[in-house]
Amino acid sequence: MKVTRIAYSSRMNPGKYAALAEQARRLGWVRSEVWQRHGSINGVGAGLTDRQVRDRWLADGTHVRFAVLANAWKETVRDAMADIAANVAAAKVDVRRAIIRRTSAPVERKRMFTALKADQWAIDPFLSRQMRKHCKRGHNRTHDQIIVRADQHNSVTDARGRLWLAVPGLERRKMVKIPLSSAVAPTGTLRLILRGGRVEVHYQVDASQMRSSQRPCGQRAIGVDKGYTEALTDSDGTHHGTRLGQLLSSESDRLKERNRRRAKLRSIANTAALRGDHAKAHRIKANNLGTVKRDRQAARHRARVRTEIFTAVHEVVDKAATVIAEDLTKRFTGRKTLGKNVNRRLAAWTKGVTAEALTNVSERRGSALVPVNAAYTSQTCHQCGRFGRRSGDRLHCTRCGVVWQADVNAAINILHRAGDPDIALHTPHHAVKQILQDRTDRHRTRLPVQDSSPATAERRANHPNRSTMSK
Ligand SMILES: [Zn+2]
Repeated sequence: MKVTRIAYSSRMNPGKYAALAEQARRLGWVRSEVWQRHGSINGVGAGLTDRQVRDRWLADGTHVRFAVLANAWKETVRDAMADIAANVAAAKVDVRRAIIRRTSAPVERKRMFTALKADQWAIDPFLSRQMRKHCKRGHNRTHDQIIVRADQHNSVTDARGRLWLAVPGLERRKMVKIPLSSAVAPTGTLRLILRGGRVEVHYQVDASQMRSSQRPCGQRAIGVDKGYTEALTDSDGTHHGTRLGQLLSSESDRLKERNRRRAKLRSIANTAALRGDHAKAHRIKANNLGTVKRDRQAARHRARVRTEIFTAVHEVVDKAATVIAEDLTKRFTGRKTLGKNVNRRLAAWTKGVTAEALTNVSERRGSALVPVNAAYTSQTCHQCGRFGRRSGDRLHCTRCGVVWQADVNAAINILHRAGDPDIALHTPHHAVKQILQDRTDRHRTRLPVQDSSPATAERRANHPNRSTMSK
């Protein structure tokens, strides 16, 4: 498993930066061309490999008009094809959910899954309709990146201990030397991202070499609930990543204040421009409305939040061989719904980081990650299964007469879902509610359990939630 590392350029010569930015701009055209020709679902369905695309371009001379070196455009074609494939793969996740909702017949599901996997959705009207719905035609928006193959770059340390990375420029045999702020030389394929006068060098290292990957995982099964104030709460009642809420709310306040200030400055600049004072308008735009500082602050904040969340997951894996969590890979339906709301954006992003950390850390340290259906886990009492009254961070169960801490209660419910015989990962919300209500109704009227096949009975007997079924 690979982990991305980033090295930054330090006090780079503006001329060199401009040359790299120009190269990235031309490679942006290459990306646009790839998306234009192969970005539709029909293009992907054609099953072309990046090598075939390269051969076609070489044959018809497409590559000539971009005026970049051969290795540069070839690597860019490969990267853009990988982006397109990722776009399709993301759509397939949604289509798989649609299949599950459409039919419960195993044979029919299997048939559609197989067709989808083999990119044969065109043969089935339902599948092609779903793919068209979820796989919107993408466009290239990347005009600031250069991909450098592993054998195309080298780095040296000068007499003063400074590390220089040499990458190909626009002309043959003329390398561009970038001074780096780190002491560790980047390895493998590099992705250079040019942002605000600084070059970010993204590269991947093997996770098994990282110290944290050597830490053994624990031996228990632990349920976790993803929170906002804490990154995670586990089924033992322990909170992890407790500074997350503070980090997010201070960032949200800062962003709101900054956006307000910038809006004001922008209106001052516009008024000045209308008055004919273009010098003033320009001054404000150049000095007060720049993006360099803003982007760096954002990157620093992201790094802090990531550390908080990854540390939290490591703490859980310290005691868990199996981590049971809500399925966090579900995507928001459309980016539009998030709008400009700062809090919702931050929450959506944090959810993604938590999902990434759970997968990443589990894989590196050898614990299993079990995604479960988390519907109503925050609203029902883990002891009796009844719907409780939620107020703030507490859940009051009127039957047990107990007030639980809501996130601890949810984490325990999530732990129990892993062994739940009736509630599967994709069981719809309303069905889950019905199942939960039936269980407590049966409880109340002392009716025997309806389904008493031996297998189910045994699973229930071994199940931590059995008290809700068999009293
Ligand atoms: Zn209860």
